[in-house]
Amino acid sequence: MTTVSYKTGVIEVAPNVYAFIQENCATNAGFIVSEEGVLVIDSLMTPTLAGKLYSAIKNVTTSPIRYLVNTHSHGDHVFGNQYFLPAPIVAHGNCRTELIEKFDANVQRYRGRTELIPELDQIRMTLPDVTFEDRMTIRLGDREIELSFLGRAHSNSDI
Ligand SMILES: [Zn+2]
Repeated sequence: MTTVSYKTGVIEVAPNVYAFIQENCATNAGFIVSEEGVLVIDSLMTPTLAGKLYSAIKNVTTSPIRYLVNTHSHGDHVFGNQYFLPAPIVAHGNCRTELIEKFDANVQRYRGRTELIPELDQIRMTLPDVTFEDRMTIRLGDREIELSFLGRAHSNSDI
């Protein structure tokens, strides 16, 4: 068996751009900081994980959370959405559609992990409310953040 070692925690990967890297190859997230606010990239899967991400952001900046971006519709990237309200949630249109159509099945999928059930019971379907089809530009402070949909990949809503 091969062991891979990598850094975990909050890592600044570019000026004011942070990765939130979890242990054991669990789902990652990210955030971009400016004086005008923070753009969060994915909300993770459970209230506990969303809370850890929120705390990590608050350890870096006091700026308010301005946007949450969902990279695709899978639960480990979007089930924490409710914890970042009232920030608008930005995603591809298919992400919203897939979440509506597959929310219950998606939650059911994780119920096999019984330790997660108390967390799963707290999750409310919280949909992207700003959607796009091909490209979107978000201006945050002096930065332009380009969001692109390049076609189906890992899901039909990857951006
Ligand atoms: Zn996925």
